[in-house]
Amino acid sequence: MTDAPAQTDSMFPRLDDAQIERLASIGARRHVEPGEIVFDLGSEDHGMFIVLQGSIEIVSVSHGEEAVLRVLERGQFTGEVNQLSGRRSLVRCRAREASELLELGRTCLREIMQTDVALGEMFLRAFVMRRLYLIANSVGDAVLIGSSHSSDTLRIRTFLSRNGHPHTYLDVETDPDVQTVLDHFEIRVTEIPVLICRGELVLRNPSNQDVAKCFGLNAGIDETAVYDLIVVGAGPGGLAAAVYGASEGLSVLVVESNAPGGQAGSSSRIENYLGFPMGISGQDLANRAFVQAEKFGASISVARAARSLKCDRKPYAIELDDGGSVEGRSIILAAGAQYRKLELPNLAQFEGVGIYYGATQVEAQYCGKEDVVIVGGGNSAGQAALFLSATARHVYLLVRRAGLAETMSRYLIARIEACQEITVKPRTEVEALEGNGHLERVRWRDRQAGASETHEIRHLFLMTGANPNTGWLRGCFAMDEKQFIRTGADLGDTWSMRRPPFPLETSRPGVFAVGDIRAGSVKRVASAVGEGSMAVQFVHKVLAE
Ligand SMILES: Cc1cc2nc3c(=O)[nH]c(=O)nc-3n(C[C@H](O)[C@H](O)[C@H](O)COP(=O)(O)OP(=O)(O)OC[C@H]3O[C@@H](n4cnc5c(N)ncnc54)[C@H](O)[C@@H]3O)c2cc1C
Repeated sequence: MTDAPAQTDSMFPRLDDAQIERLASIGARRHVEPGEIVFDLGSEDHGMFIVLQGSIEIVSVSHGEEAVLRVLERGQFTGEVNQLSGRRSLVRCRAREASELLELGRTCLREIMQTDVALGEMFLRAFVMRRLYLIANSVGDAVLIGSSHSSDTLRIRTFLSRNGHPHTYLDVETDPDVQTVLDHFEIRVTEIPVLICRGELVLRNPSNQDVAKCFGLNAGIDETAVYDLIVVGAGPGGLAAAVYGASEGLSVLVVESNAPGGQAGSSSRIENYLGFPMGISGQDLANRAFVQAEKFGASISVARAARSLKCDRKPYAIELDDGGSVEGRSIILAAGAQYRKLELPNLAQFEGVGIYYGATQVEAQYCGKEDVVIVGGGNSAGQAALFLSATARHVYLLVRRAGLAETMSRYLIARIEACQEITVKPRTEVEALEGNGHLERVRWRDRQAGASETHEIRHLFLMTGANPNTGWLRGCFAMDEKQFIRTGADLGDTWSMRRPPFPLETSRPGVFAVGDIRAGSVKRVASAVGEGSMAVQFVHKVLAE
């Protein structure tokens, strides 16, 4: 899902007569009169329409004004990615003349996608390309007015983008038309960011949850069902579990506190994930996985965090931060971890463009023969320093403590001391980051000397450790000393059942932990994806017990 296409015929393929005949046996016929609305902007309860006779038009609506995007004739069909999830329509559809249509409901459509390879591929390709077109042309029901100097603007923009929701962005500092819109909706500049939702609702600095609610991002999700599997977290591990679970016939609900993608979603290019030799952005990877999971029938709920797990009952129940709760016969915990970040206001702006959280060949290539800074005093920082010292011009290792002895293994300290390309800076902290687009300068402060220095350094590695997102799981699970969840053979006598625990199973039977949240995990996209897929095999076994 990388290149935004211009509107082309391949976005609007035509079914042949045999395909129409096959679908006619499972769809419902509908007659529409000229000018009749087939479905409207914001509606969520319609299926996909195939034109049998006559013609219909797809219309975008913005500030009450309409623009015809496409006319569909016999054999052509409506729909885009929302059709799979049941989210609200971003366009209006109207009959141009008296027409005969065939409506395929969501369940029917999913069945076709899974059983008919040719039709499934044609629908999915068209849906994905149409969504890209809508995003690229800001067609839809969202207008965000904000400022590039406001972090809440960035939060909302990031949330909309990471959820693939098309929107128009107006910047109060640079957009010449913004005053007209502000006047029309009686918005004061001091109130930004402001989101205009569906052309009528004005949300002032809304939370992500408010945004999701207004655009119906969680529409179509059944919260009364007892799911075979609930996955907490839609990072690589959770999305993999959703794809495998749903494709193998389990009813799956994914609960995500923000947007699909997890930590990987914040990476501008992942180059070490198998099958993507040119690299892939974390966002692209997440978008693809999201569509794949929905294609197989998984439900993915966003902007809702799991707040607690009722682990002393079956089925397990998860309470959500908006007051709702959901039940599952099995659970996969894939809530990941968060790297401890430096408290610097512009840190996020350089993540991936000068700030790195891992030191592999890829990052070493980015740094070339330049100077680098590593922050951290643990083994991972020591290993990174030694690794990078082989290629970088010089490595500065910034440590908060007086030295490395308390936090790093002896053998690493000895090698670092013997390496002329590494300078350890004890009691030193990063004070400021500067740059334009890419990190260009780092200022650090030697607390003992009380002096600050600015260096022209473009590469900073944060090896300050990661905190698992396990705060909400109080008392339920065996964890290691850093609060990562212990699984399988590591459970020791915290396991209570007669059968041995499955790999990845936590101390609660039927609850699994995958990816970065798991004690001893390898902090990589591939391993999270591998564990997410693997855990589903054991879920089947638990459900059969
Ligand atoms: C900037 C950056 C670049 C990286 N680059 C690479 C790379 O190039 N190659 C590589 O292999 N690895 C890379 N990594 C590491 C990789 O991204 C992680 O190892 C991987 O994302 C872990 O996947 P996960 O599914 O276990 O958890 P995460 O990716 O952490 O996803 C967890 C998800 O759970 C959600 N969540 C958390 N708490 C809750 C809750 N209570 N309720 C609901 N949802 C919750 C989070 O919002 C998140 O979406 C990078 C990491 C970062 C931060």
